[in-house]
Amino acid sequence: MKTKIIVVTGGVYSSLGKGIIASSIGRILTEFNYNVSMQKFDPYLNVDPGTMSPYQHGEVFVTSDGAETDLDLGNYERFIDRDLSKFSSVTSGSIYYEVITDERNGKYDGKTVQVVPHIVLKIQERITNLIKKNKPEFLIIEIGGTIGDIESIPFIEALRIFSGNYGRKNILFLHCSPILKVNANDELKTKPTQHSMKSLRNLGITPNILIMRSDKDLDDSTIQKLSWTCDIDKDNIFVSKDCKSIYSIPKMLYDQGIIKSISKYFQIKNFKKGSLTKWNKFLETVQNEKKYKAKIAITGKYSGLADSYMSVIESLKLASYKVGVEIEIDLIDITKITKDNIEKKLSMYNAILIPGGFGERGIKEKILVSKYCREKKVPTLAICLGMQATCLDIAINVMGKKDANSEEFNKKSDYIVFNEKTYKNKSFGGELRLGNKEIEIVDNTLASKIYNKKNIEERHRHRYIFNNEKISDFEKNGLIFSGFSKKDSVVEIVEYENHPFYIGVQFHPEFISRPNKIHPIFEKFIESMKQKK
Ligand code: GLN
Repeated sequence: MKTKIIVVTGGVYSSLGKGIIASSIGRILTEFNYNVSMQKFDPYLNVDPGTMSPYQHGEVFVTSDGAETDLDLGNYERFIDRDLSKFSSVTSGSIYYEVITDERNGKYDGKTVQVVPHIVLKIQERITNLIKKNKPEFLIIEIGGTIGDIESIPFIEALRIFSGNYGRKNILFLHCSPILKVNANDELKTKPTQHSMKSLRNLGITPNILIMRSDKDLDDSTIQKLSWTCDIDKDNIFVSKDCKSIYSIPKMLYDQGIIKSISKYFQIKNFKKGSLTKWNKFLETVQNEKKYKAKIAITGKYSGLADSYMSVIESLKLASYKVGVEIEIDLIDITKITKDNIEKKLSMYNAILIPGGFGERGIKEKILVSKYCREKKVPTLAICLGMQATCLDIAINVMGKKDANSEEFNKKSDYIVFNEKTYKNKSFGGELRLGNKEIEIVDNTLASKIYNKKNIEERHRHRYIFNNEKISDFEKNGLIFSGFSKKDSVVEIVEYENHPFYIGVQFHPEFISRPNKIHPIFEKFIESMKQKK
């Protein structure tokens, strides 16, 4: 079967949740045993989101092959339960960068280089490259931004031309749009949707499926009106209602018959059989009444924007569903923590997660939190820079090496615990240690109990690595080294002895925890904190 492509656009305003809608359709098709891949087109000019502040753009997600991508890819992977790659992340910046580099290298042979055709062809090349590489049966492409933005026009133009060549019956356009409420009596307005549909048509795209975002079901007359004004069959209009958990959206769309619309559009003979049984089983664990409860603090410096910790938060939630704990997560601004207020700020939590980060702001406070967690025996999971802070705490506060530091913050320290190492990456961002690395677990450690296997693979995004010359100093002072990378012996996991649960990891376990594959570290972390209700 030629890869069928579903293009997802959004109208009227941003943050409609079209990423979750796209992911949900991916999930449904996966449950029907189709091989699904996903691709995000981001209209901004950054070559990748690697250097963007989490405050601007939320978390930077990392794929197994080490691409630094938009956080939507995290949702895609969690929903379709499949590793994506650098081919799935396309920004305008990366497209222009390649075209301009080709131009400088004389590849255009003296021609005038233009948005049409050169940029547009490069965009199309990204689609065909992904298809060639992964050979998916379905490819879902999400176009970032809102229809009407000037930035996304080259993507729309690329797809318009592409659909002619690829075969119109092989590409389905799906538009997401909100229903608006006005007046005291909440009158429903379809006009903004009509306008965004019209804008799409002006660009040469006629959507085939419309998904309305709404806080409740839409009555028949509203659907009828949308159908007439937007020129879409009533059967092809769906509602994605506000709901408590994003994980209920696949069921919601499935129950309304979206599979029928998709299979009918593509005229696939012998559409594979399937059901949402597996997903619905997971959904039950989401919705079940929980026997236990726990309060967790995430102590990071991007606490003003929950999206900065999206995968961490989702991983905690996913594990809590499996273990049966109702969790409450608070984002605590690490920079506001002091020696004097730490007890007051953290004593009500059953567990503390110290997340990753870059740069010096907040590092002193991260060390303070590490000390607090170690001494008070609060269950602790420290990730990446968090793990580095736990090691610095031990050096400074247990070993008495007052000047101990990471080269990230003080290259002249007389006790360097983390060395800078530069890595050669093909990625534009440069010199981080990125993507999957194989790790060997040390026997008879907390890590070996958690993983219950010797060899694992985890995703990375950091530059500084533990200074292995100091291992024995730390071992004498209660730190256990329980995982090393196989290739180059980089310290990957540390634990503190005589503590119920204190583990630091140099990698990011949050990038690989999924509904059907809950990461054991998160599962055991949640188990360590559960309290009877
Ligand atoms: N800044 C640290 C490093 O580069 C940690 C990075 C992170 O937390 N992702 O090693």
